[in-house]
Amino acid sequence: MEHIANKVSLQKEYFYTGETKSYSFRKKQLETLRDVIKEYEPEILQALKDDLHKSEWEAYTTEIGFLLEEIKFTLKHLKEWMTPEKVKSPVTHFGSKSVIHREPFGVTLIIAPWNYPFQLQLAPLIGAIASGNCAVLKPSELTPAVSTLISKMIREVFPEKYIVVIEGSVETSTELLKQPFDHIFFTGSVAVGKIVMEAAAKQLIPVTLELGGKSPAIVDKDANLALAAKRIMWGKFTNAGQTCIAPDYLYVHSDVKLALIEQMNNVLIEFYGEDPLSDEKYGHIVSDRHFDRLKRFLADGDVLIGGQHKASDRVIAPTIMDNISWEDPVMQEEIFGPILPVLEFTELETVINEVRRRPKPLALYFFSESEEKQDEITSAISFGGGCMNDTFMHIVSPYLPFGGVGSSGTGSYHGKASFQAFSHEKSIVKQTTKFDFAFRYPSAKNGLKIIKKIMG
Ligand code: NAD
Repeated sequence: MEHIANKVSLQKEYFYTGETKSYSFRKKQLETLRDVIKEYEPEILQALKDDLHKSEWEAYTTEIGFLLEEIKFTLKHLKEWMTPEKVKSPVTHFGSKSVIHREPFGVTLIIAPWNYPFQLQLAPLIGAIASGNCAVLKPSELTPAVSTLISKMIREVFPEKYIVVIEGSVETSTELLKQPFDHIFFTGSVAVGKIVMEAAAKQLIPVTLELGGKSPAIVDKDANLALAAKRIMWGKFTNAGQTCIAPDYLYVHSDVKLALIEQMNNVLIEFYGEDPLSDEKYGHIVSDRHFDRLKRFLADGDVLIGGQHKASDRVIAPTIMDNISWEDPVMQEEIFGPILPVLEFTELETVINEVRRRPKPLALYFFSESEEKQDEITSAISFGGGCMNDTFMHIVSPYLPFGGVGSSGTGSYHGKASFQAFSHEKSIVKQTTKFDFAFRYPSAKNGLKIIKKIMG
């Protein structure tokens, strides 16, 4: 494990040369990253197929295309974000100038999960590069084809002293977390998020935590049911439900429950055909352990739609379950797979109270034609972010910071928020030497009187 410490200290040394800080350097590295992603597109698609059975369409839209968009947006705005921001000064600072400099933290550690293994490793890296940091990347061991490929690509275009990939599992992460990083960006489960935060606390390392949780989709009786069905099925079953912001469960008004379920059934046939287990567009479960965990949930209530599974391919059909209560195992943890339990309500108030009693969700989706009710949900429940009458779309806008709150995460990224996530805001007062106010010093005769007039 000595090599890990060596790699981090090599990057620390390099960071202090100051080379990573100039606009031209950052721009060039972002272009390099963009070019290598484009060059390796076929290999990336293959690796995502090997690890998760991702279709080309899913792999391109949610991983490759997403990154290219993010790089394009960052290149367009980088100069403006880097420019030190002049702000006003209060009267007590007369004669001085106040400026906020956004400086890179230094050497950052980026730990990624397996569900969008390419995108979730490199999207934070875009922020790290844009802000002028060096970076150590730790891909997930559960998606070995992608992990090996990321390592190869990064080695090919960046020197180790700037960006390096360290592959491995828990042991490697544990060793990495002992290193004196200047910032840690972690995407993964709540349980491991706690381990990361605890390790970071020992050295007071700032963290960004992108975690998970149970994100509800709530459908009220006045919703456009056809669109709700389509958008919820899309959000839930993309990547076979293995998405941090996938609707974890559905809360539907009892008046429209049956009609919505019927629409959802039609949509699923339209999306994945009559035999989703062998549909090329449909994702598979990442490991046998995850497959077995999900299969156990099928016994929790009644399977309304789906439920078929094939262990040899680690695939479970899009499944919708009824007669589920909050006490069932499927409602005790984040599902993170293609199973959607349905709960029903008659009063929105009940939904608000039930969601509030639990850890703050990463996402929430509310379907209703009433703006008043949309506003009520937005203000009554604390959650990372979400959509009204849609799913997922908030994560794909570079103008919206993406992140959780409380147990679903700390901090946010994407677009300018990525630049901010990897920067420290350093406030500087540039004081004049042309004159000096005597009243600020303890020796001033009427100092306190003047100060009280200004400040009171
Ligand atoms: P995970 O927490 O098991 O693993 C994430 C990373 O942490 C991996 O690289 C893994 O090697 C490492 N790790 C595992 N155990 C560790 C330990 N004891 N100490 C240090 N590092 C350790 O998560 P996962 O199963 O890969 O991903 C699924 C979870 O991630 C879900 O909860 C999901 O909601 C969440 N997630 C969140 C986002 C987001 O943007 N908020 C995105 C994707 C996934």
